[in-house]
Amino acid sequence: MNLSQPSAYATKLDEKSRIPIAMTPPRVSFEFFPPKSLEASFRLWETLGVLAPLAPEFVSVTYGAGGTTRALTHDAVKTIHKHYGVPVAAHLTCVDATRAETLEIAESYAQAGVTQIVALRGDPPQGQGTFTPHPDGFASSIELIEALADTGKFTLRVGAYPDPHPEAEGLQACVDYLKRKIDAGAHEAITQFFFEADAYFRFRDACADAGITARIIPGILPVNNWTRVRRFAEATGAVIPAWVDEAYDKAIRDGRETLLSTSLCAELCSTLMEGGVEDLHFYTLNTPDLTRDVCAALGVTQPVDLSEVA
Ligand code: FAD
Repeated sequence: MNLSQPSAYATKLDEKSRIPIAMTPPRVSFEFFPPKSLEASFRLWETLGVLAPLAPEFVSVTYGAGGTTRALTHDAVKTIHKHYGVPVAAHLTCVDATRAETLEIAESYAQAGVTQIVALRGDPPQGQGTFTPHPDGFASSIELIEALADTGKFTLRVGAYPDPHPEAEGLQACVDYLKRKIDAGAHEAITQFFFEADAYFRFRDACADAGITARIIPGILPVNNWTRVRRFAEATGAVIPAWVDEAYDKAIRDGRETLLSTSLCAELCSTLMEGGVEDLHFYTLNTPDLTRDVCAALGVTQPVDLSEVA
C-alpha cells in the first residue's frame, strides 16, 4: 500500500500557546526546461529521478523564448509522459508560429494523452525588444487561451504576475488581465517568481476582489546562482528587496550561498503556507538539490510503501 500523504509534517508555532502545530505539507509541482544536449538530457533525467518520487501534482516543460525549443519541448513532454508516470503540462506560446501550427502542436499533445497546457503569450527571441505577433498567429495570450479552450481537450494554466509584468501599467493591470485570461477559458494560474510573500498575498487579495476564484499557484525559484537569478529578476520585473541583495552579498563572500538559498526559500514557502497557500510550483532549472531540500523542510518527502517496512 502506498501512503498518499508524506510522513513528515512541517510545524508552526501557535501564536497564543507557542505550541508547535502540524501544517499539512503542500501539494507541489515542478518546472523543467527541455534539454539541448546529451549532457543536459542526463541532467534532466537525474532531476526527474530525484523529484518525481515526491509525487508532484504535475510537472511542466517550458517552451524556449521565441519558440526556439519547439521540437525539444515536445520530445521532453512526451518522454516524461511515457516513462515517468507523472502528469505533465506542456508550455505553449504564441511566438513565431501561425495559429494552425500552434494548434497542431496542441493537438499532437492531446493525441499523445497530454492534456495539460501552460498557455502563454511568450517572450520575443533574444535581441528583439517587444513581442510582435506572427501575421497569421495568435496576437495575445487571450487569443491562444480561447482557441485552446474551444477544443475542450485541455486543463489550461496561465502566467500571473504578483510583481507587475514589465509591460504592465501596474498591479491592477495584471489582475485585470488575469481576469480576462480566466474568462477566456483558463482554469488556473501560476505566478512568476517573487521574493516576498506579501507580494503574493497582495496580488491574491486583489484577484479575489476582482472576482477571480481560480487557483493561483505561487511560483517559487530556489536560488542556485544569485548573479544569474538577479539578472533574471531584472528582466522579469520581480522586485528584489534590498535586504535579499545584501544577504546574498554577504553569503557569497562567506561561501554560504546555498545555505542562505535553502533557508530563505523554505521560509518564503512556510510564510505562504501560513497564509493559506496549499500549492507550490518550483522552478527547478533542472537542478534538483535545492528544491528537494526545501520540499523536505516543508514535509514533502517520498511516500513510503508500507510493504517495504512491514
Ligand atoms: P500576458 O499575461 O498575456 O501579458 C503579461 C502582462 O502584460 C499582462 O499581465 C498585462 O498586464 C500586460 N499585457 C499584455 N498584453 C496586453 C494587452 N493586449 N493589453 C493590456 N495589457 C497587456 N516564456 C516563454 O517564452 N516560454 C515559457 O515556457 C514560459 N513559461 C512561463 C511560465 C510561467 C508560469 C510564467 C509566469 C511565465 C512564463 N514565460 C515563458 C514568460 C512569459 O512568456 C513572459 O512573461 C511574457 O512576457 C508574458 O507572457 P504571458 O502569457 O504571461 O503574458
